[in-house]
Amino acid sequence: MNTTDVIVVGGGGTGLAAAISACTAGVSVVLLEKNPTLGGTTARSIGSISATQTQYQAREGITDSPDEHFEDMGKFSSKHANRADNEKLARILVDNVPQTMRWLGEKGVSFLGPLEEPPHRKPRMHQVMPNSAAYIFHLERDARKRGVSIVTQARAKRLLGTAAAVTGVEYTDAKGETQTLLARRGVILASGDYAADPQFKTAFISEAVGATEAVNPTNTGDGHRMAMDMGARIINQDMFGGGMRFIRPVVPAWQSRLPPWAWLMRWCATLLKMAPQSLVRHFVMGFLTTVLVPARELFRDGAILINASGERFADENKPMVFELAFQPEAKGYIVFDAAVAKKYSQWPDFVSTAPGIAFAYLQDYERNRPDLFHRASTLEGLAASLGVDPRHLKASVKDYNDGTTSDGGARLSPRGPRPAIGEGPYYALGPVKNYINYTDGGLAINSDLQVLGAQDVPIGRLFAAGATGQGGLLLKGHGNHLGWGFTSGRLAGGYAAQLPPRDFSTKPKP
Ligand SMILES: Cc1cc2nc3c(=O)[nH]c(=O)nc-3n(C[C@H](O)[C@H](O)[C@H](O)COP(=O)(O)OP(=O)(O)OC[C@H]3O[C@@H](n4cnc5c(N)ncnc54)[C@H](O)[C@@H]3O)c2cc1C
Repeated sequence: MNTTDVIVVGGGGTGLAAAISACTAGVSVVLLEKNPTLGGTTARSIGSISATQTQYQAREGITDSPDEHFEDMGKFSSKHANRADNEKLARILVDNVPQTMRWLGEKGVSFLGPLEEPPHRKPRMHQVMPNSAAYIFHLERDARKRGVSIVTQARAKRLLGTAAAVTGVEYTDAKGETQTLLARRGVILASGDYAADPQFKTAFISEAVGATEAVNPTNTGDGHRMAMDMGARIINQDMFGGGMRFIRPVVPAWQSRLPPWAWLMRWCATLLKMAPQSLVRHFVMGFLTTVLVPARELFRDGAILINASGERFADENKPMVFELAFQPEAKGYIVFDAAVAKKYSQWPDFVSTAPGIAFAYLQDYERNRPDLFHRASTLEGLAASLGVDPRHLKASVKDYNDGTTSDGGARLSPRGPRPAIGEGPYYALGPVKNYINYTDGGLAINSDLQVLGAQDVPIGRLFAAGATGQGGLLLKGHGNHLGWGFTSGRLAGGYAAQLPPRDFSTKPKP
């Protein structure tokens, strides 16, 4: 039976931060990751972090504080109305995320920014360069250098011990064999969320969300389940982030494939500051159009959503068109006429935006994502380009224009009637799919990131961080999920390392 001081379950941003932090405190660490490579949702994210008092703010002469960050998070209220926040954890986030940014900088991670994101009163969103894989690149390198033992294809299955004291983890290795690993000091759960677990999503949220694909197909709530077997509970289990998104390109843009070397990123950041706006846009657009979400205003202005058969199937005005999950291949296309195309080719009507970074117009998709861009002078031509049945497409447009579908053609939007589809040329963008980006249901934890069990008594020597340990914290606005992941991971690693070690040599307690 193998023994280490601290076991970290999960090799996304949170798990790597926890492992490095524990190792830096001078103890031995084993990180178990179920996939062949590290990264998790962290490596698939846009990569922004909101933080105050950073070197990037200082460079721009911005005076900012954790208190202002705390207050501004409360202004993102509409989605979270009537839901209590965990203010203790929110305080931990805003007070410690400035140090997290310095810590990431020391590891070689570079950012663009700070960027505006109202209602934050000051620019405090920082965009990692060149993309979120940079977090994993730098942290994995640092972890290995320090001696963290990283075991991939190692899926944690069960916590050992009791709620009084967790003693280790049982996992299956690359050969599918069961292994047991004991932790002298503690176990940290950093196994992400359950965005890809149909069972949890259906039970906690809805059947449609249960049937909807996740951006990260391997986050199946394993850590949540293992802790629940010890008496833990999930808070805000019905909350999630997701929606319609363009599918990713088969080959990512060259900008996304730049190596995240610190010197290169510094050079890029300097160059981008000096370069003409048009060049900056070209650079940023290349990778933004790989991850962006279509603006819902397109539908308000007369675009419709059809499925892979060419049929319109839902009222597109809804915040999330859940029916998409049940369409052929769960995919759709956004179809519109020349008038909508003209409108969405210039400010203030953009097809999509990464807040504070840039806006993408129709021509940006034509240039950067030809795989998503379709144009034809007739509806028949458009149907041929999409590979859908022309009769269905024409009937869908007619029914919408006539308002004859069962939902009245959904020609009414909250802001009044939607325009009919008029003159060609006709356009389509897609495929689009619905994706669940993340679930916000995290294990209940205390301020020391210990997992709470029955009657809210901490489960001995068990910590949770990042998405697994979200603990009722409402991560409002952009850049706080990653901020919480790296921050709580760092802290949990330090707390676990400080626990007095147990001696398993004489009396193993699996
Ligand atoms: C498209 C998209 C864009 C986003 N953009 C942003 C953004 O810009 N800013 C922001 O703040 N947040 C963003 N988020 C959210 C953010 O990415 C996540 O909240 C965050 O990455 C969670 O980090 P984590 O380390 O807790 O989980 P993860 O990064 O998912 O890591 C969990 C790891 O645990 C592993 N694991 C799971 N189960 C086991 C097991 N049984 N045994 C061993 N290993 C296991 C997983 O394989 C994974 O590697 C975005 C999310 C998406 C999908």
